[in-house]
Amino acid sequence: MKILTATSVLLLAVTSLSAQVIDQIINPDAVEKIERTLSADDMQGRQTFKPGIEKAADYIEREFRTAGLQPLNGGGSYRQPFSMFRTKMTSASATLDGQPLAASSGIAIVSNAAHIQVDNNSGYEKAYIKAGANIFVEAMHYIHAKKNYVVLIDTSFAKQFARLGSFGRQQFKSDNNIIFLLTTANPTSYTITADQEVTESKLANVVGILPGKSRKNEYVIFSGHYDHLGVTKPNDKGDSVYNGANDDASGTTAVIMLANYFARTRTNERTLVFAAFTAEEIGEYGSQYFSSQFDPATVMAMFNIEMIGTASKWGPNSAFITGYERSDMAKILEKNLAGSGFSFHPDPYPDQQLFYRSDNASLARQGVPAHTISTFEIDVDKHYHTLDDDIDHLDMKNMAAIIRSIAISSKTIVEGKDTPTRVDTTQLR
Ligand SMILES: [Zn+2]
Repeated sequence: MKILTATSVLLLAVTSLSAQVIDQIINPDAVEKIERTLSADDMQGRQTFKPGIEKAADYIEREFRTAGLQPLNGGGSYRQPFSMFRTKMTSASATLDGQPLAASSGIAIVSNAAHIQVDNNSGYEKAYIKAGANIFVEAMHYIHAKKNYVVLIDTSFAKQFARLGSFGRQQFKSDNNIIFLLTTANPTSYTITADQEVTESKLANVVGILPGKSRKNEYVIFSGHYDHLGVTKPNDKGDSVYNGANDDASGTTAVIMLANYFARTRTNERTLVFAAFTAEEIGEYGSQYFSSQFDPATVMAMFNIEMIGTASKWGPNSAFITGYERSDMAKILEKNLAGSGFSFHPDPYPDQQLFYRSDNASLARQGVPAHTISTFEIDVDKHYHTLDDDIDHLDMKNMAAIIRSIAISSKTIVEGKDTPTRVDTTQLR
């Protein structure tokens, strides 16, 4: 055995001191306390728009406050509120060059407005979807263009046209109206009138920050979704609650633990953002809204954490990173993990497109090195989206190990010493 020099003894002392701090904060008991609370039956499956998720949000807020985080936009609340809208068209009519449009079923609208009255002088842009086009791709283009449109759609699409309107789908708040008309005419003058029943539903992410010591306007995000599937009919064991212990109370637990860790150690030169997202299970609305509140150029990295409650396919002390090759973030993390006994791997389930299926996707699509860290064995996990996704099937010791590995591996990014390369959005589907 090699003789220890004075420096290596000192180094050893420093290393074990910080090892002690991280173990004091991120350990199986601390993980279990949070995980058990979030996945308890009284959270009623944390379903978006239901009381159970409000209870979960209250709990996460208390944890963020206790950790010493600041609310994202000042004020006293960590809630990041927003609304989703559902609409139902109750009446619609149109005239094209003075002629009534044949059928009211030839009008479809994507809008939050209760009443729409538009004519050729309203400043709407006229667009066309011609026979042979890919109607849904083109329609989506207009829906996302943040402009007012009257889109004339060729009557050869009569069948597909019925699927174009809002039809009870959740929409974000928008000041734009997209009006689709099924017609072969190309009118110079037109009038369109429509009424809709509009239902607004409120929801909220929970977000706290630790301002950076020097690079305040460079953000590093740690996130997970706190919503799940709610309650269903009792099974033969009398269980009716989708506890979502792994999906994604485990990721939310990690976010709270990391908030505690970084608030205690205060090594962050960059501003750290801790986010618990709502409405992932019904369309990733929480992370979409959250992402829209940032200039993507200011976000240096996103660590989204989804389903880390069980050992990965490589066993304990390992996890995978979705979109591993799309930035060099994974390489930075691996470098920081050297000698720790943890390992990160590329996503072993590329066919599942997991990179696009979690809350990292919105920012990744804007070029942010935004990845999801997970241990989920998607090919063999029997508890996924079942009543059996409860804490009894999770491994607290391994969860603590994964959370520590995120704390350790993110170190140089948090401290501003490493900056991952951007995701090349031209390579995304
Ligand atoms: Zn899920």
